[in-house]
Amino acid sequence: MLGGMAYVGNLTCRDCGLTFTSNWGSYARADEYRCERDHVLYADPHSGALTTPEGRLEESPTLVEIRGLCPWCSTELATGRLPCCPVCGGRDHDVLLSGTVD
Ligand SMILES: [Zn+2]
Ligand SMILES: [Zn+2]
Repeated sequence: MLGGMAYVGNLTCRDCGLTFTSNWGSYARADEYRCERDHVLYADPHSGALTTPEGRLEESPTLVEIRGLCPWCSTELATGRLPCCPVCGGRDHDVLLSGTVD
């Protein structure tokens, strides 16, 4: 989902039944991208400059420069993905939102 809404809530994995708390979604100035292995990057919607949840990447590449592939595992990055289950890796969850994050 584009447009800058980040959420926090409980996710219940439909594959293994685990309930876990996570946050996900895009911020006003940072679109969230997740790879298939659930590495998270944020891209500035104007410049495409990438940041991580921990801060800037050392070489500060843009989304175009990394060709939409995760810099850590080379799987495809996409927006609008829910966090994957920490136990089974599934990504199909029941969502119980507890709020939004600015
Ligand atoms: Zn699971
Ligand atoms: Zn990755």
